[in-house]
Amino acid sequence: MDVALILLAISPIFWLFIGYEFFKYRENYQLKDSAANTVLALLHQGTDAIALAILMPWFYVLYEYRLWDVEVSFVTMLVAFLLQDFLYYWFHRASHNIHWMWAAHVAHHSSTHMNYSTAFRQSLMYPIAGMWIFWTPMILIGYDPKVVFAVVALNLAFQFFVHTKIVGKLGLIEKLFNTPSHHRVHHAINPKYIDRNYAGVLIIWDKLFGTYVEEDEQVPCEFGIVGQLNSDNPIKISFHQWIHLFKQTKRATSWRARYKALFGYPTSSEQKH
Ligand SMILES: [Zn+2]
Ligand SMILES: [Zn+2]
Repeated sequence: MDVALILLAISPIFWLFIGYEFFKYRENYQLKDSAANTVLALLHQGTDAIALAILMPWFYVLYEYRLWDVEVSFVTMLVAFLLQDFLYYWFHRASHNIHWMWAAHVAHHSSTHMNYSTAFRQSLMYPIAGMWIFWTPMILIGYDPKVVFAVVALNLAFQFFVHTKIVGKLGLIEKLFNTPSHHRVHHAINPKYIDRNYAGVLIIWDKLFGTYVEEDEQVPCEFGIVGQLNSDNPIKISFHQWIHLFKQTKRATSWRARYKALFGYPTSSEQKH
């Protein structure tokens, strides 16, 4: 099953959660912000479908060079889920540390609100940023590309549920899984929280690779990005960082500076130079 279809099939559940949160915790919502999130979700689904249509034949060429033939079974699917979640961690960590990838991912972080609709706030530029490259090892191992992208979609679907302020800490679940508490930290710009908790489904990767921080009740999360964007325009949300990235690269006077502008640690598009 295709990525878009999986997410479409689950979408009534997403809207139920948004509806409940909206009516019960109205203060967590701002209509223009949620409208922008919804437009961005549709744009993201659109470009993702186009990118997959273009890339799928190439993934099957790559699949010809696979190391093994991985049959579909409970065990191989469990391994696929773990492996994809591990790769997602590195994709996400790279997205916060490499300007070229942040230019796309920043869209997801550029809201100062945190509610279930924030999960919809995605970038239509992910195919250009190179998200798909991170899934290619699974194809080379021998997972059918269609299986790989189904697992990618399920991981994303899980992440919908961690975008909320209305769920506190979840006891033992916090030890193993990415939770609303862990993901609030991820969306926060407080010095204590920034660039932490990159988890998709399992929080164990952050704990293993040193990027885990627990939400501290004494330090309330301040959501958004360094140099807040202050815009609900989906076009601005999608492209402001790309414009900044290209301007910064153009201004660079050496190859080293150009490389740093493109692939170094991101700088804020809202900082005046
Ligand atoms: Zn992120
Ligand atoms: Zn998020």
